[in-house]
Amino acid sequence: MKKAEMPVLFLGHGSPMNAVENNAFSSGWRALGKRLSRPSAILCVSAHWQTAGTAVHISRTPRTIHDFYGFPKELYSVTYPCPGAPEMAERVRGLVRRAQVRRDMEWGLDHGAWSVIRRLFPGADVPVFQLSMDEEQPAAFHYELGRELAPLRDEGVLMVASGNIVHNLGLMAQAANAAPYDWALEFDASVKKLLECGDDSPLIAYESMGGAAELSVPTPEHYWPLLYAMGMRRGGDSVSFPVEGMAHASLSMRCVMFSRGSAVS
Ligand code: ZN
Repeated sequence: MKKAEMPVLFLGHGSPMNAVENNAFSSGWRALGKRLSRPSAILCVSAHWQTAGTAVHISRTPRTIHDFYGFPKELYSVTYPCPGAPEMAERVRGLVRRAQVRRDMEWGLDHGAWSVIRRLFPGADVPVFQLSMDEEQPAAFHYELGRELAPLRDEGVLMVASGNIVHNLGLMAQAANAAPYDWALEFDASVKKLLECGDDSPLIAYESMGGAAELSVPTPEHYWPLLYAMGMRRGGDSVSFPVEGMAHASLSMRCVMFSRGSAVS
């Protein structure tokens, strides 16, 4: 039986503390999870897993990686004991033509994955597996790789791309509710508008979008996951923004969903 076409998500994850704090972002992710059909598996592309070449994690029991420093003990005790999806990971290796996707047995789930997925599916009963981003490739590669992954939507796989559209840690304010920088608001709004228009080219060539883009994306790893989600978008999809807002003045928490409407009630 053909499975319902799954939506595609890009989630702005922000501070690791969002994994344990109850705030507008974590409650937004929880509310979003309740609206989703149950996927057969979740494929996560996270800002926090970059490698030489592209890799897919193969495991029946992916470990929870606490890949951050100096946070409260509470955060290090969080685990997300979901099953892995080794068969679907092999399917991804067969599907991708643009790169030779290697098998990885070491990774697991980094906080870009578990901090948000634990809110979407608190029962930890949906299999999750991660695909790494090749750190040596340009933006267009990541977008095109996303396009190759689009058929997974027909197989019940939910893409959770996890990063931040605006992510400047160097200029971050300590207070989560600090007034956002003008350039951060400007770039976030420009991206939103281009996504609404379905105008992907400037978003792939974001480095040509001017000063606000330069400040918002000083390094590409939190932006690239958006390109995977965009690549999986199909004609006729609607775009919506289930969570919006800025944190610490220089992080956009915007979430993006591409969907047909049928998979979401
Ligand atoms: Zn991050």
